[in-house]
Amino acid sequence: MDANEIMKIFADTAYVRTGGSDEELRCAQYLAERCAGMGLTAAIEPFPVEMAAVRKERLTVDGREVPGLGYLCSGSGTVDAPLVYLPNTDACAREACRDKIALIDGRMGHWLYQDLLDSGMVGFITYDGDTHYADRDIDRRELRDFVSLGKKVPGMNINVKDAVELVRAGASHARIELEQDEYEGQSRNVVLDMPGQREEFILFTAHYDSTSLSVGTYDNMTGSVGLLALAEHFASHPHRYGLRFVWCGSEERGLLGSKAYAAAHEQELAKCVLNINLDMIGSVMGKFIACVTGEEKLVHYIEYMAAELGWGMEPRQGVYSSDSTPIADKGVPAVSFARLAPHSAATIHDRYDTAQVLLAERMLDDIGFITAFADRMANAARCPVGREMPENMKEKLDYYLLRKREKK
Ligand SMILES: [Zn+2]
Repeated sequence: MDANEIMKIFADTAYVRTGGSDEELRCAQYLAERCAGMGLTAAIEPFPVEMAAVRKERLTVDGREVPGLGYLCSGSGTVDAPLVYLPNTDACAREACRDKIALIDGRMGHWLYQDLLDSGMVGFITYDGDTHYADRDIDRRELRDFVSLGKKVPGMNINVKDAVELVRAGASHARIELEQDEYEGQSRNVVLDMPGQREEFILFTAHYDSTSLSVGTYDNMTGSVGLLALAEHFASHPHRYGLRFVWCGSEERGLLGSKAYAAAHEQELAKCVLNINLDMIGSVMGKFIACVTGEEKLVHYIEYMAAELGWGMEPRQGVYSSDSTPIADKGVPAVSFARLAPHSAATIHDRYDTAQVLLAERMLDDIGFITAFADRMANAARCPVGREMPENMKEKLDYYLLRKREKK
């Protein structure tokens, strides 16, 4: 794969492709066609996802309509109640939200949502965007099933500029009207199998879906292209271990593609020696990192290998918020590679995530290092990475996957 081809793929896929949408299917088919172009046969594996079609959404604050988008899958109904801004969400602060609509900073995560419900919140408002940007974009959010656990109150997402104005004006009453049809839809993973001399295999993952405002070129067509390049490399280079490539759907909706894959292929994952996940590479600016969910020895191996090749990078042990996590949760050691740009140079999940923040040459360099690592693992006499998940990683997985609550 050369620079022109990389830029062509970015141009071909410069459209929004949220999990479960027709555009996501279009991109899945495109990736499968790309594999076919290399003489490789990829299969599209569908899996069910919750979907919603909004019929009506309106937020009125103190008698004035505020632009907002309803939370998908947060139920239907009208809530008319006092509005309270909760800059803090500790137990004491939450006392203020009983029978009220709460405006909060940041994301509505599982523990916060459940805490606010327990405190009597009847509706909620979140915001995103940036006060310093020219746009007034609003992301389409959803109340994920593992956040709500089926307990739904209507929510709206608004732009930060409106949120600031509401608080500045001392807004005191809100009305959320939300009507939506919730139904089961389909998302999909694209799976390519390349058998090796051994039955055990290495699993490569990268998500290809995007969020609602974004064409997701950096996050994560870059990783998807990385997987195509790895497949192309191994199509003409030997590999003792089997190789499986999975382009995951609906990652942005809560790692749904990798969760579905891990559940459907749990038996086979017993033969998976390593997961290599790519989520955001090739940015003009930013440092190259590796996050290992597995034994610490692998961190040192990557560090030594990078030194050997004269490659600057920062490897560490941890749980990465990407498709490597559901795979690691099945006991497979995983490593995520990424090049993380400073926020001032490249942002994600917004309209500014385009090929503009990327460099084809950086893509080629990043892919080159990942290929060198993958080549060593794929041709190892015996893949040296221990299969046992260390206790500290098991604990982090419990926190990330909401089985345990981390004490702050
Ligand atoms: Zn991503």
